[in-house]
Amino acid sequence: LLDALTDQAALAIERVNLAEDVDRAERAAEKDRLRSALLTSISHDLRTPLASILGAAASLRTLSGLSATDREELLSTIQEESERLNRFIANLLDMTRLESGAIAPNMSLLYIGEIVASALRRAEKILAGHRIERRIAADLPMVKLDAVLFEQVLFNLLDNASKYAPPNSTIRIQSWSDGTAVHLQVLDEGDGIPKEDLPRIFDKFYRVRKSDSQRAGTGLGLAICRGFVEAMGGLIEVANRSDRSGAVFTITLPVPAEQPETEAA
Ligand code: ADP
Repeated sequence: LLDALTDQAALAIERVNLAEDVDRAERAAEKDRLRSALLTSISHDLRTPLASILGAAASLRTLSGLSATDREELLSTIQEESERLNRFIANLLDMTRLESGAIAPNMSLLYIGEIVASALRRAEKILAGHRIERRIAADLPMVKLDAVLFEQVLFNLLDNASKYAPPNSTIRIQSWSDGTAVHLQVLDEGDGIPKEDLPRIFDKFYRVRKSDSQRAGTGLGLAICRGFVEAMGGLIEVANRSDRSGAVFTITLPVPAEQPETEAA
């Protein structure tokens, strides 16, 4: 896996450097550097939740006289950190599937509102500390999507909104159509993204702030979002909100000509 990812990163650099005819040794050194940076980042992301799990398990075993509340708290830690590990590994696997071209979207005509609902259900725990505002137009046409991939995209965006916007702030998810396309936006009330970072935010392993490395995450979530959305024939973009602070992610999907006969929805 690591090799595949490193090769990809090295390939991208190689493309850039082609014209400059960088010598081979230099390229090999660059690949080594990338590989060890990747290893460090991945090990860190694996070890942080693992340390919490091990700590909580050890406390449960060795501390006598724990109250029911304490036990419950330690068990929650184990569960939450395991879920985090699970998400991390799922992200890595999604990324390799994308890079190896193994993503073959299973497209069918669907209503976006239904996928939004299931993504929100899946993200329920993560979003517990935020207010969710759902504004899905009632008359949306159907779009061609892979439900599993699309739910993953929404989940990643909601996960980010919950991570990078303060507790109790509002995360809005809205969708509307202009007839030729369906637009879906996830808006948060965090600090948004510095202008100079906007063009790189969908790059693999790109994280904006130094402090982001202390939060669980891989810098892969948005790269996966872009890969999945493009594989489904859509477009994903990022901007800062104009009405207040916060980021807004917009997905645009074409409305296919063939719409099923609607008996009054
Ligand atoms: P991760 O969250 O694992 O770091 P992502 O690819 O999902 O990776 O995001 C890349 C980076 O983009 C994050 O580290 C963060 O710096 C920035 N980012 C993503 N979503 C938001 C958001 N809603 N608000 C502010 N910054 C964001």
